[in-house]
Amino acid sequence: MKPSAFEYFTPATVTEAIGLLERYGEEAKVLAGGQSLIPMMNFRVARPKVLVDINQVKDLDYIREEKDELVIGGLTRERAVEVSPLVQKKCPILSEAISYIGHLPIRTRGTMGGSLVHADPTAEIPVVVSALEGKMKVAGPSGERLLGADEFFVTYLTSALDPLEILVEVRIPTLPPNTGWSFMEFNRRYGDFGIVSVAALLFMGDKERCQKASLALGGVGPTPLRTRKAEKLLAGQVITDALIAKAGIQASQETEPESDYHASAEYRRNLARVFTQRSLTEAWNKVKGGK
Ligand SMILES: Cc1cc2nc3c(=O)[nH]c(=O)nc-3n(C[C@H](O)[C@H](O)[C@H](O)COP(=O)(O)OP(=O)(O)OC[C@H]3O[C@@H](n4cnc5c(N)ncnc54)[C@H](O)[C@@H]3O)c2cc1C
Repeated sequence: MKPSAFEYFTPATVTEAIGLLERYGEEAKVLAGGQSLIPMMNFRVARPKVLVDINQVKDLDYIREEKDELVIGGLTRERAVEVSPLVQKKCPILSEAISYIGHLPIRTRGTMGGSLVHADPTAEIPVVVSALEGKMKVAGPSGERLLGADEFFVTYLTSALDPLEILVEVRIPTLPPNTGWSFMEFNRRYGDFGIVSVAALLFMGDKERCQKASLALGGVGPTPLRTRKAEKLLAGQVITDALIAKAGIQASQETEPESDYHASAEYRRNLARVFTQRSLTEAWNKVKGGK
């Protein structure tokens, strides 16, 4: 099918883009990489009357380090983040997670902002940004707001972004020394959306005792899910295989999966347990190996 008719604008600045959103309100949609929006328009699931194409807003395309944070512009391509030496050094789990997204042409067009605003609970970027406790900076007619993942992801394909706002930046804490990390997902074929994914972080102060753990799961609920009780089990403890096994069981009990044609809820819950255990083991091995 072809999309229904729309007007098309190419603003050059954020202010201009917000002005267009103000003028056309809910009839307008921001277009970034187009890798989710255009298929939805072609299937007429989305029928915006106005497209505000932000690809000419060059100020939204950057990756830099500020104090202990990576700061990434909303229009930065997924592939640019994946191959960035700065990201690979300061936050390698982000590069790793992005490498699971679709195929190279999709990552080359798709953007950080687009993936986050699209808010698919099986998408890799929302899951890893949740685990990393990243913050989304959004700008609209009344100024800027900074939203954490818990606030930003509302439910399936729904973020807390107001229709007049643009996601301008993502701020992600860099990993401190002695942090074990792992991103894993289960899918049927390379490039498919994950059925279940897990981002695991073990912040090890002295390499023996875990100071803090962060676990975010995708595909097991309406938003990326932090399994906070499982995280609490790990915090302050010496990591052992038995503790990892317990944390995996706890994490799976915290999930709220639904059955669909890809997998039953029960199967997803089981994958959550297995992949939490595997990713925690990998994260722990990375710290032990001094990587
Ligand atoms: C074949 C295929 C396979 C894919 N596989 C995967 C996969 O395995 N994992 C995965 O995570 N994704 C996958 N994707 C989706 C891909 O990652 C998209 O690029 C991403 O979800 C959306 O990013 P985008 O820049 O293309 O956004 P667009 O499609 O341009 O926009 C998506 C939504 O976000 C809004 N939006 C975009 N940018 C902004 C902004 N800065 N401010 C406000 N609103 C904004 C748009 O209005 C729209 O509602 C796949 C896509 C395709 C076509």
